Amino acid sequence: MPTTARAVIFDLDDTLYLERDFARSGYESVATAFAQQLGSAQLAVAAMLKNLDSPNRHRVFDATLADLGVPVDAALLRAMIDHYRNHLPRIRLCDDAERALQRLSTSARLGLITDGPRVTQANKIVALGLRPRIHELILTDELGPGLGKPHPRAFVSIAAALGVAPANCIYVADNPSKDFVAPNTLGWTTIQIRRPGGLYADRQPPVGGAPQRVITSLDECG
Ligand SMILES: [Mg+2]
Repeated sequence: MPTTARAVIFDLDDTLYLERDFARSGYESVATAFAQQLGSAQLAVAAMLKNLDSPNRHRVFDATLADLGVPVDAALLRAMIDHYRNHLPRIRLCDDAERALQRLSTSARLGLITDGPRVTQANKIVALGLRPRIHELILTDELGPGLGKPHPRAFVSIAAALGVAPANCIYVADNPSKDFVAPNTLGWTTIQIRRPGGLYADRQPPVGGAPQRVITSLDECG
C-alpha cells in the first residue's frame, strides 16, 4: 500500500442512512409483533414516532404503553426492546451516500466505525448491502466494553487495517458529542454531516471534539 493512499471512514447511523428510518422500521415491526398487547398497529406506530420527537426519546416504549393505556410491564418492555434491536430493518442508503460510496471507491480505501448493539448494527449493514462495498468495518460493540467512541481503539485499528497513515484518514460522522474526539487526537481530518432530521446534529462537542469541517451532503465529501 503506497503511503500516499487515503482513506475515508464513515459512521453509520445518520451518516450513511437516516436513523429515523431505522426507528420507524423497528416501530412497525414491534407494533405488528405485539399487536395483541398494543392494539391497532397504526396507532401504536404513531405514538412511538411522536415519542421519538419528544423528551421521551430515550423511553419511547414506556411512554407509548402509557399513551395507549397498556399497563407498563417490565417483561413486555424487555421483549419489545429486544424485538426492536434484533429486527431485520427496512432501510436504504441516503442518495448522496450511495453516490459517495460509488465515487470514492475508485480513489480511496473505505472504512466504517459504528457504535451500538452488535446484532442491530450487523443487521443494518446487511440491509444496506455495505459489506462488499467497504474494505474494513468495525462494530465497536465487538471490541469489548468501554471501547466504543470516543475511545480511540477502533480508529487506530482501522487505519492500520486499511494501511493508511493517520494524516490521510478522514472520519465522516454526525454526532459531535462523541464522534470526533479520537480522530482529532490521532491527527485525522474530521467532517460532520448535518442531515435534515438527524437525531444528534445539535449535540455539543467536548473539548477537542469539534469537527474540522461541516457539510450538509456527502456530495461535498471529495
Ligand atoms: Mg451516527
